[in-house]
Amino acid sequence: MKTYDITLIPGDGIGPELAEVTRKCLEATGVQFRWDVQEAGVDVMAKLGTPLPDSVLESIRKNKIAIKSPITTPVGTGFRSVNVALRKELDMYACVRPCKSYEGVRSRYQNIDLVIVRENTEDLYAGIEFQKGTKECQEVIEFINRYAAKKIRPDSGVSIKPISVFGTERIVRYAFEYARKYKRRKVTAVHKANIMKFSDGLFLEVAREVAKQYPDIEFDDRIVDNMSMQLVQTPELYDVLVLPNLYGDILSDLCAGLIGGLGVAPGANIGSNGALFEATHGSAPKYKGLNKVNPTAMILSGVLMLRYLEEHDSADRLEQAVAEVIREGKDVTYDMKASRNDPTAVGTREMGDAIIRKMELSKAGR
Ligand code: NAD
Repeated sequence: MKTYDITLIPGDGIGPELAEVTRKCLEATGVQFRWDVQEAGVDVMAKLGTPLPDSVLESIRKNKIAIKSPITTPVGTGFRSVNVALRKELDMYACVRPCKSYEGVRSRYQNIDLVIVRENTEDLYAGIEFQKGTKECQEVIEFINRYAAKKIRPDSGVSIKPISVFGTERIVRYAFEYARKYKRRKVTAVHKANIMKFSDGLFLEVAREVAKQYPDIEFDDRIVDNMSMQLVQTPELYDVLVLPNLYGDILSDLCAGLIGGLGVAPGANIGSNGALFEATHGSAPKYKGLNKVNPTAMILSGVLMLRYLEEHDSADRLEQAVAEVIREGKDVTYDMKASRNDPTAVGTREMGDAIIRKMELSKAGR
């Protein structure tokens, strides 16, 4: 039987508790893993002076697959977000967030089944920024004012929005390949091409070209503001959405809201050289060490990892076990109970154990 070498980053805040439960659930599928545990985040920063030691990147480069718990972005320390740095360093250009309803999760919506494919490296999030009042910013403003019909005020800060043919082509291609592999019917490109003609306009133009190569999958496009309204009113009309970085970030949270919130929203960052799986939520430091928060988003990120490894049978069994525990509503964390103070809510570990028991039962019944 194959053994997979996986980098496991327990993170900080609620991260380590979630990583432990997720590891146990993944092992309970019967798939064999060799975990390369790598510390990153605020706890390791105190010890090593950096929140992202080189060994973490080396490990992911070697293993090419990582599963990561949330990591706090310290405010005002001069360190950039470890999460953003990891995605950038490893050129993980696609952020994939399936948003699927599970019966029993409290939400205003049922039967949501959407997949967000967000470009991860370009757009206003490329990190190309000029601070108001600096010499560089002044020069950039003077340069632009020389060439553009509209003038930038001298007391402005400037963030640059690059969108390339290369970056767009690979993310849209990824969305179509994903749609084909997972038998989805439609890809929708989301943009604001009517206003930003040379960045979002390029995104749309390239998306249309790529779409022609996938005649088996329906393609359409929507302007991002209209898309936001339609996702709230008629989400069933949509399937896979492909978006530039900023709109992808915002609509990911909107779609997480449709399926019941951050506690249940998994994610994957995919690059040409590897993949990193992580929940959408952050490190919720106030719950650190309390064995309280919902492990679902992290466990479902593990399900995405199993699918990436083509371990579909194990992925199905783990997802099914999560779905059953949520449907029964008994062994679930406080956020999944009708009242947040419900004394019958269980802890993070206990919910994980209930999921493992379900998997064992289904195995015995086969
Ligand atoms: P957060 O997601 O950590 O927490 C917001 C609130 O959501 C929490 O207070 C809690 O009520 C709820 N919540 C989050 N996860 C939950 C879970 N599993 N179960 C139940 N409830 C849950 O967002 P934040 O407070 O904005 O960020 C905290 C830190 O996490 C920041 O430093 C931020 O930069 C970082 N962060 C990291 C990642 C990542 O590692 N990928 C992502 C987002 C934020």
